[in-house]
Order: sequence, then C-alpha cells, then structure tokens
Amino acid sequence: MAKTVTLIKGDGIGPEVINAAQKIIDATGVGIHWEVCEAGAEVFKKGLATGLPQETIDSILRNKVALKGPLETPVGYGEKSVNVTLRALFETYANTRPVRNLPGVHTPFSDRSLDFVVVRENVEDLYAGIEYLQTPTVAEGLKLISRKGSEKIIRFAFELARAEGRQKVHCATKANILKLTEGLFKKVFEEVASDYPEIDAQHIIIDNCAHQLVLRPENFDVIVTTNLQGDIISDLASGLIGGLGIAPAANIGDQAAIFEAVHGSAPKYTGKNIINPTAVILSAVLMLRYLNEFAAAHTIEQSLLYTFGVEKIFTQDLDKASPLTTTAFTDHVIHNLGKETNFWKPRAYKPLHLPQTKDSTKTGPRKNLGIDVFIESSLNSEDLGKSLEQIAHPSPFYLKMMSNRSVQVYPAIPGIKTEVIDHWRARFFIKDALRSIGDHDILELLANIGETHAWMHIEKLYEFDHILSFTKAQGEI
Ligand code: NAD
Repeated sequence: MAKTVTLIKGDGIGPEVINAAQKIIDATGVGIHWEVCEAGAEVFKKGLATGLPQETIDSILRNKVALKGPLETPVGYGEKSVNVTLRALFETYANTRPVRNLPGVHTPFSDRSLDFVVVRENVEDLYAGIEYLQTPTVAEGLKLISRKGSEKIIRFAFELARAEGRQKVHCATKANILKLTEGLFKKVFEEVASDYPEIDAQHIIIDNCAHQLVLRPENFDVIVTTNLQGDIISDLASGLIGGLGIAPAANIGDQAAIFEAVHGSAPKYTGKNIINPTAVILSAVLMLRYLNEFAAAHTIEQSLLYTFGVEKIFTQDLDKASPLTTTAFTDHVIHNLGKETNFWKPRAYKPLHLPQTKDSTKTGPRKNLGIDVFIESSLNSEDLGKSLEQIAHPSPFYLKMMSNRSVQVYPAIPGIKTEVIDHWRARFFIKDALRSIGDHDILELLANIGETHAWMHIEKLYEFDHILSFTKAQGEI
C-alpha cells in the first residue's frame, strides 16, 4: 500500500533539490504518495505571520512523515523561523546527521572511511530561548536540561545504533564544568546504557570530542549530545565529508519525522539549475529507511555511490569545471538505479523503534536551605556585603556569601582581587537548619532588600533526596 508523505518544496533552491529527490524516489517504483503543502517565504508574503498554514500542519499530523526543502523567513514578514516552529510544534526532539565519505569527494579525510551519526537533542538546552537582560549590561540565558528530555534522546541514540547495527555510542557533554545540566545528561546516559549491554557506551568531554573528530573521526560510531554542543559538532562533522551540498539530516519525534538537507535556500543559486541535490536525496534515503522501505533506500544510495565513485560525475560545488546541471545529475542517478558498488560497508538495517521513556516524576524528600538573590549594584563588595548582612540580621537568614560572575567576593578570598561588574549573587542560608522556610520568609527578606538595593531574580536552594541541588561559587566552602 502506498505511504503518504507531506512534501514541502521550500524556498530558493528548495524546489530544485526536492524535485530531484521526488523524481528519483518515484523512479525506484516504491509506493510513495506525495501530499504537496506550502510553508515559508510565499506563505509569509500572503500575510500568515507563522509562515505555516494549518493545512500543512494537518497534513504532517496525518502522515507523520515529511520531506522538506529549506525555508526562509523573509525580512519584514515574520519573526519566527518556520524551521524552528516545525521543530517545536511536532517536538522533533532527535536531530540526526549521518556522516559518511562519498567516493570521489576529496577532503583531508577522504581516506578515513568515516561512518558515524551525530544525534543532537533538538528541543531543550539554551535553545529553549529563555533569555533576559538582567541589568542594562548583563544578559542571562537559561540552559534547561530535563531528565525526560535527556532520556528520550539518549534512548533514541541507542535504538538508532541497534537499528543500524552500530556498536558504540559516545555521549559528549561538558559535565566536568556544568555539573547539574550537562551532568544530568551524562548521568542519564550512564543509567540508560545498562539497558543496551551489547553496545559499547562511553562518555567523552565535548571539547575532547571536537579534538578527536579532527584527529581520529573514524573512531566514532554514534555521538549523542545536548542541543548547543550538537549544533556545533554536527556542523564540524559535515565539514569533514565535504560540506553542505552532501549533508543530510532527519528531525524525528513521536508525532512526526521531518527529513531535510542541512543546507539552506542558497538564494543566489535559485533557478540556475546548478546546485547539488545530493543532501536532499540522502535525506530522502533516511526517510525511506524510517518508513522501512529498505530496498528503495539501498537502491538510491548505491546509485549515488555509483554516480560519484564510478562515473565520477559531480555538480559544480564539488567540481568547479563541471558543466553538469542539477537535472542532468538527477537523470544520471535515475539511470544508475540498480547498480551496486562496494564503497560503503553494507549494513543490516532494521526498523527503528522510537523509545518509550519511563515515568520520572517520582522524587524523594526535598528541603529548602535558602535562596540566591541576584542584585544590581554599583557598590563595592565590602559595602554591599555589609549592607546585606545588616538587612538579613533580624530575618531567619544569614548572608553565606556573595559572588560576582562565578567567584566568591564576600567574604573576600585572601589575596584574590576579582574584577567585579554590577551584577551580584547574594546567597542566604537559613540560620536554624531545623526550621523550614516559608514563602513569607523569602518575600519579607526580598522586600527588605528591595528597599535599599535593586534585585532582579531569585533561586531557591534545595536539597533533593539529601543531595545539594545547586552549584557552589568558585572559592565557596
Ligand atoms: P545556505 O546553506 O543556503 O547557503 C550557503 C552556501 O552553501 C551557498 O551560498 C552555497 O555556496 C552552498 N550551498 C548550500 N546548499 C548547496 C547545495 N545544495 N549545492 C551546492 N552548494 C550549496 O546558507 P545561508 O546562505 O546562510 O542561508 C540562506 C537562507 O536559508 C536563509 O534564509 C536561512 O535562514 C535559510 N536556511 C534554512 C535552513 C532550513 O530550512 N533548514 C537551513 C539553513 C538556512
């Protein structure tokens, strides 16, 4: 029975690359019915502020799978990128980017047999976009990492490894510095890994991962990482194999999976019939595997390898002297369907199982130990510290310390002179550890601080399950 896929041709070079992929898929004879939908620049220009019509949303909800060209947000027509809206609406939490050398595409890594996948968490982290200017000169961005979000993407990475017969999963984080956020991701990875005993699970610090990706990229199989780290690492990885024209991607969630090239709409090449459709064709191969159409995926992949490696036919981005048009390249790929090569190690692909996460809402006892109050002040640390101590004196709290950026500045660390800015964190602890803290205690302290100083933000300091759930400042005992 034909499977229906939502097809968004996109902006700029989008229609050219999507038409190529569609034509090749149709030529394999696999039963795909295309539901063509609109999104992007033209929709914005018609006056729809989201750039995404309800019919397109309904189509993706119905079909659960979309192949999409790049989308633009034209200046003056809307604020939000449709790409980000799609990612958020359908919660496509798993961004996967396979990295494999194509024969004949020369890079400094051509002879390394690169064959790995970067799995990037696609929803959380700093990309939640919760940002504030806390003072006119100090900006804050919240890095949100949840146990549930981490478990989903980490299980996804292991499931992908199973579906593709891969043996190793690296979890790349900055847990050595960001102990609670990136540390939670690492902790969940270590817990989840025990459910996949046949897979070698290793943690690697993200900066070392970047280093190793350049020195020994052939050692990686699957890399799972948080959103911002994944954004950078996956682009680095695309660079290893020769750039944007050949880098495919998938955005997969429980409600929908959206397949697209990594590249954008390359407006200066629009309509010239010279761009490389390979990235979208390889994204379509990922889509066919997701639909369990393994034979058609294999046929297209092999035809591309034959076109590149045996016929040595390239578009201009890979061979400046090439006169080949996008449509002529597409026709070559179609002509080569059915030809086999041995450039890539064969894989026994299996259906991908989207992971189920366990209920992680159960928590143990919690205890509030105090609060951090963020204050804007041009006083020096001694004067501000003494003032806050006086304010706290009649309250149930005492000033434990003050930090400026990351360093404890009050009480001062002997011999250390820290350059301070007008943004302070004052840490107040409860005097009597046996007394519980009520919101009225906090509000009274804040009201008293607010009479003399400008505070802009507070955080409650908890112990969850008898474990301190906040980090210490540099130098704090
Ligand atoms: P881009 O990827 O569109 O183009 C950058 C350069 O990469 C091009 O000038 C070209 O030299 C090369 N290139 C890209 N794709 C190619 C291909 N298929 N074949 C040959 N060469 C190719 O990046 P940009 O110029 O920064 O962005 C243009 C527009 O695309 C912007 O509006 C941006 O917001 C949008 N965009 C969309 C997506 C998406 O829809 N997922 C992704 C990135 C950028």
